[in-house]
Amino acid sequence: MQLFNDYSFESKRAILRVDFNVPIDKESLEIQDDKRIQAALPTIKFILNGGGSVVLLSHFGRPKNGPDPRASLRIVLNRLTALLDRPVHFAETLEEANNAVQGLQSGEVLLVENVRFFPGETEGSIELAQNFARLGDCYINDAFGSAHRAHASTTQLASFFPKDKMMGLLMQEETRNAQHILSNPKRPFTAILGGAKVSDKIMIIENLLTIASDIVIGGGMAYTFSKALGGAIGNSLVEDERLTSVKQILDKAKTLEVKIHLPEDTVAAVGFSADAKNKVFPTIAIPDTWMGLDIGPKAREQFTEVILQSNTILWNGPMGVFEWDAFSQGTKHIAHAVAEATKLGAFSLIGGGDSAAAVSKFNLSDQVSYVSTGGGALLELFEGKELPGIKALR
Ligand code: AMP
Repeated sequence: MQLFNDYSFESKRAILRVDFNVPIDKESLEIQDDKRIQAALPTIKFILNGGGSVVLLSHFGRPKNGPDPRASLRIVLNRLTALLDRPVHFAETLEEANNAVQGLQSGEVLLVENVRFFPGETEGSIELAQNFARLGDCYINDAFGSAHRAHASTTQLASFFPKDKMMGLLMQEETRNAQHILSNPKRPFTAILGGAKVSDKIMIIENLLTIASDIVIGGGMAYTFSKALGGAIGNSLVEDERLTSVKQILDKAKTLEVKIHLPEDTVAAVGFSADAKNKVFPTIAIPDTWMGLDIGPKAREQFTEVILQSNTILWNGPMGVFEWDAFSQGTKHIAHAVAEATKLGAFSLIGGGDSAAAVSKFNLSDQVSYVSTGGGALLELFEGKELPGIKALR
């Protein structure tokens, strides 16, 4: 694979696929967190400092039927201009982009409108990829958060550049950190998994059984495990169709001597709301009308103990409905335990999405080893898959 750092960008027009899919306020359309834009800056600046110009491609939100002002990258334009401290050109259509690149000088940046506004992006259209390819001389993929998608701008586009294609600096950093754990984790290696759905995490748990020493399970997922072991879980989230797979996982873990830790107790509520009356129960004895929304105080201590004796930590998914204060204590304690273990010398990798939002909410982002910008992409790497966006760069 061509190395980005060795490539000469002098007078080259670089097509750079980034992930500017930042969270915005649904009413005011203001950017809530610009981490993803910031994360792309080193790659953009490297190309500009090397004498090249940059054509930026990104998706933004999930527009269903073509152009939608609420998913326009114009929302990102001002912030990008401010962060780069130079003007950024904008092209709404492919025709405008083609015209704009003709006059693009070294040191200049063009942002093309949301790739998902163009028919064929999510279907991986070769024709659309070819149109994107005409915009530059080389292709760099720095959109780690989208690398698990085989879309026109993340995968097909690379095929138009037999040699001049490479990973950007963020993509390199993301894959290096994931590989650090995947190839040779310093044991004990603890994977902490949470979030709502077991079905999303079955494959990662199966793959982790071959590399982790301990797997800590919290969040809504924990109740399917508890039920599989014969526990009463009341009204808690459960995926009955996954009970058999969960039992198989528990058996396999025993054979492979991987310890699976389920929360001893649970903070349960009478309804799914921020201010619902709540009470602590053993996770295997939640009364009928109650639903588990967070791990309980004993589970916080139980999980903290496991985390503090770890040398490697992977965390993906909150321990409860951390968006609501009454059910955020479990996630908060785990975030602090991961930060503490990191201080003691452990390597900690936080999977994007909700876990990244949680460490940021508790102001601990700079006290863990690495916070990934990818949610689904990181999960798929840990499922043992090769991501199409990375494979296409070979
Ligand atoms: P996921 O996308 O599967 O990682 O799930 C993240 C979401 O799971 C967050 O929005 C949490 O609020 C939610 N969550 C975590 N624990 C629970 C629970 N016990 N019951 C319902 N939702 C939960």
